[in-house]
Amino acid sequence: MSAPKPLIAGNWKMNGVSASIAEAKAVAAGLGATPARVAICPPAILIHRLAEALAGGPVLVGGQDHHWDDSGAFTGDVSAEMLADAGASLVILGHSERRAGYRETDEIVASKVKAALRAGLEPIVCVGETLEQRKAGEALAVVTGQVRGSLPADLAGKAFSVAYEPVWAIGTGLTPTTPEIEEVHRAIRATLVELFGEAGKATPILYGGSVKPGNAAEILHADEVGGALVGGASLKADDFLGIIRAL
Ligand code: PEP
Repeated sequence: MSAPKPLIAGNWKMNGVSASIAEAKAVAAGLGATPARVAICPPAILIHRLAEALAGGPVLVGGQDHHWDDSGAFTGDVSAEMLADAGASLVILGHSERRAGYRETDEIVASKVKAALRAGLEPIVCVGETLEQRKAGEALAVVTGQVRGSLPADLAGKAFSVAYEPVWAIGTGLTPTTPEIEEVHRAIRATLVELFGEAGKATPILYGGSVKPGNAAEILHADEVGGALVGGASLKADDFLGIIRAL
């Protein structure tokens, strides 16, 4: 099995309006040759327009979340099928802002992953420890526990990635040291191999948390880092391109 390309995905979170489509177009126009797969995950309401604006180009469009059911009486929610129908090919699931702010458990995340697969979306499943958990020496146990709990067996043979996002590094400007990132990524790799055998050796493990053009090269070239999930720095085309070019 050939190794998948590194994935660099931008998570716009609850940022972006129609005018932001120009920023995504600027990423596509400026990308040039890259060894990466590049994706932008805008708010759900922009997916359709972004997908149309980027159609036929090198930048994929993804969602940031969806419901675990395929349809029904869930006021305000969107389904995986709706995201796919709007033009998304990937989806971020289990982001710490969903786990903390909306009480998403590993079980809920695993249900959402199954729904993503039913809709043909490629999941990016997020895991990561809080600062308290790291200080208590629990980072590896927390993260590998989340990997075990959030990745259903249905993922066997499917394209997906895991994003290690230490909660304390998200949007703070703080990042773990490279050896700290590598330690967690190696533990995730071992868990993936335990769960999925040989295929687990190829699953990209992204790093996320305050990735910027200035620190991207060191992070992206660290052992077992197969790409990045980028929040704040994905909102400006120049910054996002600076990260992609660091590969
Ligand atoms: C994120 O929330 O997925 C993220 C990585 O955010 P930031 O890059 O802004 O830390």
